[in-house]
Amino acid sequence: MTGKPTPTPNADTSPFWEACNEDRLIVQTCRSCGHVQFYPRALCVKCESRDLNWRDAKPEGTVHSCTVVHRAPTPAFKEDAPYVLALIDLDDGFRMMMNVINCPPESVAIGMPVRIVFEDREGQKLPQAEPSANA
Ligand SMILES: [Zn+2]
Repeated sequence: MTGKPTPTPNADTSPFWEACNEDRLIVQTCRSCGHVQFYPRALCVKCESRDLNWRDAKPEGTVHSCTVVHRAPTPAFKEDAPYVLALIDLDDGFRMMMNVINCPPESVAIGMPVRIVFEDREGQKLPQAEPSANA
């Protein structure tokens, strides 16, 4: 037990979390207008269509913004601090918040290319980013 929070999948988000457990990044897209959205929802945020679809997303992107967390918000994250919390612009046109791992926190910069890796957290894998230069 790490005590870290794990996501609670619901009807809208469970396909996403199930794909994560298979080391796949998928994204919700709208069949009506082509909009790509994250977080998954029951409706397209652009045209309100319910005709939504899932497709595989390229697990690569760049750092849009980032912050180094020095003081963990809860004791469960204490060992990790300092760690990087970043907004990642995925190459497929959506944005996700995640940690940038497997590198020194001070090395993470805006515009840095990253790839998505999956971190197992008590049976649910979470998408995280690492520098693509590690590839
Ligand atoms: Zn739409």
